[in-house]
Amino acid sequence: MPSSDKCIQSTKKYNLYPYYDAIIIGAGIAGLVCAAFLAKCGKKVLLIEQHFIPGGYCTSFRRKGFTFDAAVHHIGGCGKWSVVGRCLRTLGIEMDFYPLDPMDHLIFPNFSIEIPADMDEYIARLQDRYPLEKDNIKDFFQDFVKLYRATFNNEKSQIIDRYKDQTYGEMLNAFFKNDELKMTLAGQWGYIGLPPTQASAIAMCQMMINYLKDGAFFPAGGTQEFANAFFKKFIDFGGHDMLSSRVEKILLNGNSVKGVKLQDGKEIPAGLVVSNIDARQTFFGLLEGKTDLSFLNKISEMRESCSFFLLYLGVGGDIDLSRLKRGFYHTATDASTMDKEWLYISVPTKICPSLAPSNKQIISVVVCLDKAMYKNVTDWKSFKESMTLNTINRLEAYIPDLKKYIEVKESATPKTLERYTSNTNGAAYGWEVTVDQMWENRLPQKTPIENLYLTGHWTKPGPGICAVVSSGWGVANLIMENWR
Ligand SMILES: Cc1cc2nc3c(=O)[nH]c(=O)nc-3n(C[C@H](O)[C@H](O)[C@H](O)COP(=O)(O)OP(=O)(O)OC[C@H]3O[C@@H](n4cnc5c(N)ncnc54)[C@H](O)[C@@H]3O)c2cc1C
Repeated sequence: MPSSDKCIQSTKKYNLYPYYDAIIIGAGIAGLVCAAFLAKCGKKVLLIEQHFIPGGYCTSFRRKGFTFDAAVHHIGGCGKWSVVGRCLRTLGIEMDFYPLDPMDHLIFPNFSIEIPADMDEYIARLQDRYPLEKDNIKDFFQDFVKLYRATFNNEKSQIIDRYKDQTYGEMLNAFFKNDELKMTLAGQWGYIGLPPTQASAIAMCQMMINYLKDGAFFPAGGTQEFANAFFKKFIDFGGHDMLSSRVEKILLNGNSVKGVKLQDGKEIPAGLVVSNIDARQTFFGLLEGKTDLSFLNKISEMRESCSFFLLYLGVGGDIDLSRLKRGFYHTATDASTMDKEWLYISVPTKICPSLAPSNKQIISVVVCLDKAMYKNVTDWKSFKESMTLNTINRLEAYIPDLKKYIEVKESATPKTLERYTSNTNGAAYGWEVTVDQMWENRLPQKTPIENLYLTGHWTKPGPGICAVVSSGWGVANLIMENWR
């Protein structure tokens, strides 16, 4: 995730206040949403971000006229009535999105399938393709939608009790016999970072139904525009920001938050702190373990999600990418091998041509990595070089002679992701979304420390932009209720 040459700068025409009602650590999307809501209600809010641009994983960078999205490829639920759409409307943010239709493609060695943007159409296509499973498909989606609604409304219900301890693989096996159908319905597991044998059914449900019911969208101008929109609104509401500033400590008075200390030694007093950063670093780094022991023990036993290798290519000439479909390119040959590696390939310039100079294109590739593969890497430079070469060679199976069209080539490893966001080992989705780390087992937003809150993918409800928007909005509501 190389640095950007086009970034949003705050105007900084103000002096910092001697005291803030709230400090937000980290300008990831959850931090930005929370900060905007708190500033909107007239409080003194300071947003502190170590990078020189806001957005966390939702940022872009430019090279030779190409605008590359660092990590996020699309956002769920931006329609008028869905979570992100309602959040934007409530904050008075107007921005343009391109709806993705079809939503995705799944390409397996033995078959491929297109996932349409509309859920009813998807169900009908699956029923046509797998007629013997017609009723099971209907029952499965009925339960999946019910489960989604119940988790969305955060309500206790029988449907949650039925599935909260099940993996997605167990759920699929209970409904279906057809192997290919199970592979299809598991084909998007990369969006939550865990194969069906390990991923919680709730996590997969939240991601899939969000995309199928509320749509997948690409922000016009790239994903940085999404982050910038919240950041600008926060400043308009009178919020203060410190970009390129790293928080070193959260300061306590007994068991209560009293402010933060920056890397340069500056102390800033505050009534409350919201941490949008890696929860392990919040409690073991910024707080040096000064909290309830059972809470610390729980965190030390939790496991972070996987990370990825990312390749960003700017290509020119008369390269023909019309046959390159956006989606997952799996190596699995049956449902029992769905945990095998995949590539996710997209050509964002097909959606938003202005991301590249005219007649040029961007190819973006995510490579699934096994944690065991990169946890012991010491020579990241060689790792990056060999992954880059290997990935380009694999792409040439779909685009012969690709190498001769490449004008810009950048790549990122888990180490790069960690360097830019401080997510441990470049964790893409906060905590792994296993049954024992999702739903009521995920860390709460209210912590054992008075006036310290969490937001983002290390807390509830889970990973992904739509979920962290909901997390940022939810924690702001919790805080505003207390203020009232
Ligand atoms: C490769 C990849 C692709 C993805 N694709 C998608 C996708 O297409 N759609 C989707 O919905 N989700 C996607 N995700 C997941 C999604 O990006 C994340 O779940 C989400 O962005 C997390 O947001 P967040 O607000 O929790 O925090 P983060 O984005 O992790 O931001 C945390 C912020 O805190 C800052 N920070 C850290 N420590 C400090 C400190 N001490 N002081 C000050 N600042 C600090 C960091 O610099 C960072 O800006 C993807 C993730 C990855 C890695």
